Amino acid sequence: MLTDIQISRAARLQPISAIAAKLGLQPDAIEPYGHHKAKIDLAVAGLGDTRGRLILVTAINPTPAGEGKTTTSVGLADALCRIGHKTVLALREPSLGPCFGTKGGATGGGYAQVGPMEDINLHFTGDFHAITSAHNLLAAMIDNHIHWGNALDIDVRRVVWRRVLDINDRALRQIVQSVGGVGNGFPRESGFDITVASEVMAILCLARDLDDLEERLGRIVIGYTRAKTPVTASDLKAAGAMTVLLAQAIKPNLVQTLEGNPALLHGGPFANIAHGCNSVIATRAALALGDFVVTEAGFGADLGAEKFFDIKCRQAGLKPAAAVIVATVRALKMNGGVAKADLGSEDVEAVRRGSVNLVRHIENVRSFGVPVVVAINHFTSDTDAEIEVLREAAASQGADAHVCRHWADGGAGAEDLAHAVAALAGSDAAQFAPLYPDELPLIDKINTVATRIYRAGSVAASPAILAQLGRWEEAGYGHLPVCMAKTQYSFSADPTLLGAPSGHVLPVREVKLSAGAGFVVAICGEIMTMPGLPRVPAAESIRFDARGEIEGLF
Ligand code: ADP
Ligand code: MG
Repeated sequence: MLTDIQISRAARLQPISAIAAKLGLQPDAIEPYGHHKAKIDLAVAGLGDTRGRLILVTAINPTPAGEGKTTTSVGLADALCRIGHKTVLALREPSLGPCFGTKGGATGGGYAQVGPMEDINLHFTGDFHAITSAHNLLAAMIDNHIHWGNALDIDVRRVVWRRVLDINDRALRQIVQSVGGVGNGFPRESGFDITVASEVMAILCLARDLDDLEERLGRIVIGYTRAKTPVTASDLKAAGAMTVLLAQAIKPNLVQTLEGNPALLHGGPFANIAHGCNSVIATRAALALGDFVVTEAGFGADLGAEKFFDIKCRQAGLKPAAAVIVATVRALKMNGGVAKADLGSEDVEAVRRGSVNLVRHIENVRSFGVPVVVAINHFTSDTDAEIEVLREAAASQGADAHVCRHWADGGAGAEDLAHAVAALAGSDAAQFAPLYPDELPLIDKINTVATRIYRAGSVAASPAILAQLGRWEEAGYGHLPVCMAKTQYSFSADPTLLGAPSGHVLPVREVKLSAGAGFVVAICGEIMTMPGLPRVPAAESIRFDARGEIEGLF
């Protein structure tokens, strides 16, 4: 088997105008960025009714064994195209930071990839740079406002807007800024997050159009006055200039799968402190252009799917038609207590023990009124007996499970799954409804997700946190959904509790208001918003080889 990058290089990509033509887009509806990437004109992207059927690809809880949501999304979209359905993929753009840390891009794998891989994983069309710039412009305007007299009476100890950079750099997590004398402003503590953790990223991904983008940017709460009243980006008159900086970034990016099918890659918010899925604009454009749209949510279904439903679909009025839960024998074995080093040998009982994780996710996704198909993403080490146990676990819930070999065989390897998904998504079986109503108090929303999705016994929140939620409700933010930030590895806040734990206590350590994005973040446990580099970063081996091709990146 060739490596992902060898497969990607060997594929011959079509000119991007040919991909656009498959979607019925005329040459003037796209703005090419080189030969194989293009922005779709916003007027075109926003046009048309969203007639397509929306299919969410989600997964069991991630393990170091790998699940393959992106790979399965690509394979499924290629397979749907192969069996004659006009299908559009809608995925997140990868972050630059992790490419130089631990190896690995985010464009799928094996024969189920989108290209051009190096471009997409590096600067792509510059969206993340624009987001970094817009975010940091606001930061500069805050300190500048304080420097020139602070007419808004911003409390320098209560500025919550930090700066961002799309590089993993632990040195910037906590900083003291504005040191060096009067001319440099008022010294204060602050820090940097990675660009994907920026609220501007979440906003870009939830905005419906340019006007909505500007309004949302204006609603960002940057800090509080000495009387604890919120100060917004619009108080600082920053939203207009930020919107101008984002004018290109808001347009969806068109690329292709290695089989020449259209894919929109747009936006890439964190799946913990943000909602973790591609832009609403790209999803709506895809729904207007295709009969089926395959999209992915980050992490496992407890985090990714819940936020996709409760934040993205709620805000954008989207109605998913079906969900695919990706499971692997390897990851279920790990959920059944097997160490990563021992995954190579058959262990049917471990798959059986671990399959409680899959069963729980099937129940949860269905509780949103969305029908489920299980995709068994096949690894070469899987045995027939292990696959049978996985299939039985799905069958115990009345869900079909299909073995998929798209990683090895491309779209041809996922045709069974595609037939099942097309039948289910076409059947009007879905009766989607978010988990809780807008009017529920914020703490009750947190409780609902904790008990119904995580199966926690209770939520532990300090009086200070409850008081903060109360102040936001008084200030008019009580109708917002909650964005849960917890470990992706467990239903609980303890990453070592695998399987299907219940009755645990979910500790809410901190709450954060993302008023522009339109959610309140509940941080449960330690969540890193600026990653560091590992002892030996991938960056040490990234270079051009003698033929001028990039090596070491993947
Ligand atoms: P996710 O979207 O769930 O994070 P990806 O689809 O990005 O996962 O896959 C993670 C890694 O696992 C990629 O490097 C991909 O090549 C690899 N992978 C996915 N499916 C398979 C498979 N069936 N066999 C071998 N490797 C796979
Ligand atoms: Mg992925």
